[in-house]
Amino acid sequence: MRPLPKASALGFALLSTAALHAQPAPFYDVTPSLASLRPVARQALASSGITALDALPGYDLTLTVQPGPRTFTLREEVYFTNTERSPMREVVLRLYANAVRPPPRRPGEPAWTPPVRFSRGACVGSSCAVSAESPSVIVVRPAAPIAPGGRLRVTLELQATLPEIAAGRSGLMAQGMESLSALSSGESGGDYGLLAVGDGIVSMANFYPVLARRVGGRWERSDGGAVGDLGSDDLSNVHALIDLPSGYTLATTGTVLRRSEAAGRQRVEVGAAVVRDFAAMAGATLEVATRRVGEVEVRSIFLRQHREAGLRVLDVAASSLGVFQRRFGQYPYVDLDVVEAPLVGGAGGVEFPGLVTVASMFYGEAPSVPTRVGATPGGGLGDLGGLLSALGGGGGGASAMLGQMLPSMLEFVTAHEVAHQWWHGLVGSDSRAHPFIDESLAQWSAALYLEERYGAERSRRDADMQIKMNYQFMRTLGQADAAVDRPASAFATPIAYAGLVYGKGPYLYNAWRSAAGDPVFWRAMQRYVTTWRFRTAPATGFLDALVAEDRAHATRYRSLSRRWLNEAHGDEDLGQMDLGALVGNMLGGPGGQVSPEMQDALRMLGPMLQGLGGHGGGGAAPARPGGDVSPQQLQELLNGVMQQLETQ
Ligand SMILES: [Zn+2]
Repeated sequence: MRPLPKASALGFALLSTAALHAQPAPFYDVTPSLASLRPVARQALASSGITALDALPGYDLTLTVQPGPRTFTLREEVYFTNTERSPMREVVLRLYANAVRPPPRRPGEPAWTPPVRFSRGACVGSSCAVSAESPSVIVVRPAAPIAPGGRLRVTLELQATLPEIAAGRSGLMAQGMESLSALSSGESGGDYGLLAVGDGIVSMANFYPVLARRVGGRWERSDGGAVGDLGSDDLSNVHALIDLPSGYTLATTGTVLRRSEAAGRQRVEVGAAVVRDFAAMAGATLEVATRRVGEVEVRSIFLRQHREAGLRVLDVAASSLGVFQRRFGQYPYVDLDVVEAPLVGGAGGVEFPGLVTVASMFYGEAPSVPTRVGATPGGGLGDLGGLLSALGGGGGGASAMLGQMLPSMLEFVTAHEVAHQWWHGLVGSDSRAHPFIDESLAQWSAALYLEERYGAERSRRDADMQIKMNYQFMRTLGQADAAVDRPASAFATPIAYAGLVYGKGPYLYNAWRSAAGDPVFWRAMQRYVTTWRFRTAPATGFLDALVAEDRAHATRYRSLSRRWLNEAHGDEDLGQMDLGALVGNMLGGPGGQVSPEMQDALRMLGPMLQGLGGHGGGGAAPARPGGDVSPQQLQELLNGVMQQLETQ
């Protein structure tokens, strides 16, 4: 998209003639960016109620990146149409990179400053006042209210300094520790390193102002906590001109329209039509491997030294894309980039349209054991994977164990992120009010990929570790089972969020599948996607599709939905944590060997965690809700385990 001196009707070729004639001159030109959409997706737009692409918000970004000094400048044009029935007196934009203040760090560390600075804004063709109300809120007040159907074009200028992720912080060991600290401190989130430079990878997500969410006819100016995903859920069109040093590999949402080089810089023009967000990743030492899946070019982008894992990611991404297209319907874009990223705060991967990131920690070798556990407040989804990561390295047994866990974690995370191309990408959902909608389905879809590729046994084993364990670990720590379908802000801790949304919710789809039988279940799946693609699915979207396919069993489907989403039967349905089975699973089945030192570590850890969590170590004893682990207890426990591993 670009400003329109000459309107092109080509972008509207997909619209009916009647619609075309009814339209005023296009607000902005979506035509070039449509190259990012597959024909099958363009055809689906009209049936999804999108009859005028230029009525979607348009973002035109001119981005100049200086990775050396870790800065960028951004000139942005926002094209906004009031699609509501009342006039609007203001338009609110959010800068989500500035919305997440990391928890206070150690004494002596510099105070946090918002990474992106707004310097000025103005309206084009009308008069308005543009001001930053807070680091993450920019308000545009036009001189006259914007009437229904009225338009507003705003230019913004911003600069940013990208935070640097300390060397080694994105490694498996450090991230295991961060998850644990988050677990003990109850701190949430952090920004996951979405807008940052680390390991020579420039990660630019949440970096440009986007229209705020509309909730109950109002612009949403705050986020109610940092648990879960921030950012936009709404469709938009993005056109970007990115200027960065020659030699940098660039991966973005959308597709490259043009590329040129001059004086040691490259200029890359990118179009991304009908996307819910836009992200860009770049690095001088990134390599690319590609594979075609039908019309789609799948790319894996990874650090040079991580080629083996990068090729594995390519294979998993291409294979899972195939499985998901067969089961859920066609992927909408022409490109899919899967990018290694220096994620922190316990995030394993993050999804954007046409681009997903997978945490660097899964690409490297098993790390070495640190000499002590530092009190590093972090955040994120503490889970047992993180805990055991923290135990990895050092002794040969632990290291070997971790070495065997890594590929399956990498595979699961990759498939989960690719599944988000359907769940939150194609089929939108409100990730703040109902985070289970996309996250539980993405978890379940990753297990589906494993099932279709390797069979049910392998899928069940990995799901026990990657899905169920989130729930069981939450219970082991004494946190109560509760409703899965709640707003992200209603989860008391990241552990509860991980345990319920990622650990328990996914099993609803297994329950429905068993109840419905495969033919009905897969028809419901297809109906769900065709009903809600390029829209925002409600929390009952899948249930409605299932009931529409099989009304005779509506009561049964509804009661399963209540059981898994609103009630608390997790202990009964998912069982309690079994460390022995867990270790067996991690070692790939009964043939695996557990080193004596790891057995000792786990023997010590299990009862201590269970004791701390408030149920006395007996396998069948129900866990007591509300038990608590103090940071000190956890710290002592971990230091003990570390010492033990070191002395082996
Ligand atoms: Zn996810």
